[in-house]
Amino acid sequence: MATVITSECINCGACEPECPNTAIYAGGVPWELNGETHPAVAQDIYYIEPSKCTECVGFHDHEACAAVCPVDCCIPDPNIPETETVLLERARVLHPELTIPDDAPSRFRKEGGAPAPAGDGAEAKPATANGAAAAPPAAAKPAAVAAAPKAAPAPAATVEEEFNPIAWEVPVICKDCNEPWTIPYRHFQAGVVFYCPSCSGSYVPKSQMCRAVRETFEGFYNARRAEREVFERRRAKEAAAFVAKQDAEMADFKKRLEDLSHSMKPAGKTVRPTGIGSMFT
Ligand code: SF4
Ligand code: SF4
Repeated sequence: MATVITSECINCGACEPECPNTAIYAGGVPWELNGETHPAVAQDIYYIEPSKCTECVGFHDHEACAAVCPVDCCIPDPNIPETETVLLERARVLHPELTIPDDAPSRFRKEGGAPAPAGDGAEAKPATANGAAAAPPAAAKPAAVAAAPKAAPAPAATVEEEFNPIAWEVPVICKDCNEPWTIPYRHFQAGVVFYCPSCSGSYVPKSQMCRAVRETFEGFYNARRAEREVFERRRAKEAAAFVAKQDAEMADFKKRLEDLSHSMKPAGKTVRPTGIGSMFT
């Protein structure tokens, strides 16, 4: 489904330069395609022209506008559900100068996408957000909590990455076809209609479900963040103690060397150099 900007837009303009398809316009500015201009879709706030939006398929594995919007008002438009195939084809039509492969970056496949097509000036960005409701094809597994660190002996993600709700995904099962898919946490709100990417069946979260999801995510991440902070503080303290111990050992070592130099005075008569060599001493 295309991305849409809601009335919560504060006109900051952050999203516009991020769009690889120039689908975002300031309110009142006519949109343009193939040299033709068309009346603005909105007058007072930024807007997205749906026929130019590919949900960033072909360029990023997340919606670039949603990733930068400070008020989270770039959301999937439930009235315009679209498949990855349709969006990929649109990207190719919009950018005939590019070769956009079938496995180009796509929010439908957050991992394993190819680099963004060359020559468009669009930068592939890290997978920090997935802003729409439709999700991976049927074969894909539901995304686990998206920002959870991969198996590693120590926490891998930075606190900023891991605890950013933009990256969280709520795994759901389609009530019609039983296929798993995911909905971005920040869009999982009561009454919003989402569509299954496999069968297009609707999925409407109820208040109780939203509460349970909120408690589960925030309970887990709040506890995890607290635990991480304790760990970081302890590690910083241990590092400082270790450095202080090594500094003290080095000072002691230098003192011992100095003491050693004083204790190493050889006995016997002093012999001074003679001949030419003595002229230089
Ligand atoms: S989702 Fe991507 S293509 Fe669509 S308007 Fe936002 S930045 Fe542009
Ligand atoms: S980033 Fe969000 S708030 Fe800013 S102009 Fe775009 S849609 Fe509006």
